[in-house]
Amino acid sequence: MTTVDRVLGTEDEETATSAAQRRVRQLLALNQSAILITGEIELDSLLQRIVDEARKLVGCKYAALGVLGEDGFISKFPTSGVSEAEREQIGTPPKGHGLLGVMLRVGQVLRVSDMSKDNRRVGFPPHHPPMTSLLGVPIFVRGKLVGDLYLTDKIGGSDFSEEDEWLVQLLATHAATALTNAQLHIENVGSLQKVRVQRARSQALLRVNQAINQSVHMDEVIELIIKSALELLGVAGAAFHLLEHPIPVHPPAVPIDAGAQSFKARYAVGLHEMLTTDAAELPMVGSVAGRAVASRTIQVVNDTLDEPDTIFPRLADKELRSLVAVPLVAGDKISGVLSVYSDQPHDFNADSIALVEAIGAAASTTIYNAALYEEAQQGREAAEREGQRLRELEQMKDEFLSTAAHELRTPLTTIKMSVGLLQEQLELATSNGGSIDSRLFNLMALVDESSQRMHSLVNDLLDLTRLEQGRATWTVEEIDLREVVTASIQATAPLFESKNQHVSLHLPEVYCPVRGDRERLEQIIINLLSNAHKYSPPGSQVGVRAIRSSDKCTVSVRDNGPGIPEAERELVFERFYRSTLHRKDRTPSTGLGLPIARKIAEMHGGRLWVEDAQGGGSIFILETPSA
Ligand code: ADP
Repeated sequence: MTTVDRVLGTEDEETATSAAQRRVRQLLALNQSAILITGEIELDSLLQRIVDEARKLVGCKYAALGVLGEDGFISKFPTSGVSEAEREQIGTPPKGHGLLGVMLRVGQVLRVSDMSKDNRRVGFPPHHPPMTSLLGVPIFVRGKLVGDLYLTDKIGGSDFSEEDEWLVQLLATHAATALTNAQLHIENVGSLQKVRVQRARSQALLRVNQAINQSVHMDEVIELIIKSALELLGVAGAAFHLLEHPIPVHPPAVPIDAGAQSFKARYAVGLHEMLTTDAAELPMVGSVAGRAVASRTIQVVNDTLDEPDTIFPRLADKELRSLVAVPLVAGDKISGVLSVYSDQPHDFNADSIALVEAIGAAASTTIYNAALYEEAQQGREAAEREGQRLRELEQMKDEFLSTAAHELRTPLTTIKMSVGLLQEQLELATSNGGSIDSRLFNLMALVDESSQRMHSLVNDLLDLTRLEQGRATWTVEEIDLREVVTASIQATAPLFESKNQHVSLHLPEVYCPVRGDRERLEQIIINLLSNAHKYSPPGSQVGVRAIRSSDKCTVSVRDNGPGIPEAERELVFERFYRSTLHRKDRTPSTGLGLPIARKIAEMHGGRLWVEDAQGGGSIFILETPSA
């Protein structure tokens, strides 16, 4: 039989009507209390509300709620009917010995009419108000005892009745529901808070990463990371201590010796003035940063006072009490350490340490990339400086050559004229019967040939510099490229005849229109033909062919000479370059013909290059846009 059944069964002494009326009143009061209790969501107010309502419901002087803690003892003890002053006088709340303990252990209702006569009691502490009767009702949440309601001293002097017991038991079930809700509320608020913190951190990290990705300049990136770290962690200071020379990650741990390098604070916030400058240094030996680098692992100091021998940087105006230092590892190098400083001991929990690690990881890659960028930038600048220097040298050389060529022209003309005159005189003297040493003739011929060669060299040089400096004069008109080819062949015909070489010519039927300078275009073809003549053996074949396509005209000159080694096919277009196959020849040469020819081709919007002719020899190709 339940308490409720028993209570309902006692009706025989009263009239059914008054009993029913009383029960209705009690249930209405209970309902009122239940509404008030379940309306509380915050735990402490709820506990207080439960004791107040329980006291009111049964009409007793005092009520208390012993909340069972994890350790099996009472963890909270809200009371009702005891004034603030009385509570202070009583002192520390009960732990759960004596009668309270009995209930906590047994988990059953307890009704005692005089506590002082119960042998399970341990007695009240001094200044405790005297209490006689007791009604104790356990509260279960999902079958687990969570605490006991203690009601003492029923008003009116009588003992607590079965009806009281029944009412408080019903109230306890409402209290259990409300406690469950309060507990869920606490959990919800907790996880919501956690989610909020996580979200704020993820967003901040995202901002860091986005900002990092937008910048490649080391200083900007470092400053940004450090500011975000401060904001995210709410700490007193942070610094990047970078190694002057990044060290390899392997081997995984290195001993730090006294000669090891020191760190330079590349960027620091919140540190003592000395350390916020570029020159500020932190030694490897004896510092936490040094330890992080040597062990390649994150270092946490919970209280700097525990490590009197360690070297710590100084905070600007607070005492440094705890820190986290994470090594910056990227690629296979450690470039330094990110440290985060607090003026509170034990300021870093697992969460914030993980965050410092995450920031450190983002920073490592960025610093690595930024360092590579800086290196590349420096390389580019050096290359640019070098390029500029070379351009200046080249210009100086051009100027020198052009001046030298100019200066040489006049004396050369004098020499040539004088030689001519001398030769004439000598011939005249011989024809007049004079006896002239034949070696003199040979000598004169040599001087003539040499001055002739020098003359061509000087002319070519002047021509090239004029072309390069844009000082050459042009007569531009529409020309039939076939005419240019024919004229060039005619001009070089004596050369080929002298070596018994045969030139074959293939021209298209159709007009090959090109816009350009006739003489300059002839200069190209003549150069190619005279090279074919010069570098091919006597009696060999030279093929000249012109082709017209929709947008260009092409002329090719093929010979069956020695050809040009592949590696030299571009070099022969450089000034003064002679193929390795001809270095020992005595063939008259300036090494300027092809550079001039290519320059002229380019100035016509065309190209000139050499290929390997099938079956040996070379094939030079001139391509020009058609008009
Ligand atoms: P040069 O003929 O006065 O030396 P070029 O600029 O015309 O100057 O030619 C450069 C070099 O290219 C020559 O010295 C020669 O070694 C090589 N060369 C030019 N034309 C031919 C060719 N048809 N066959 C083989 N080698 C050639």
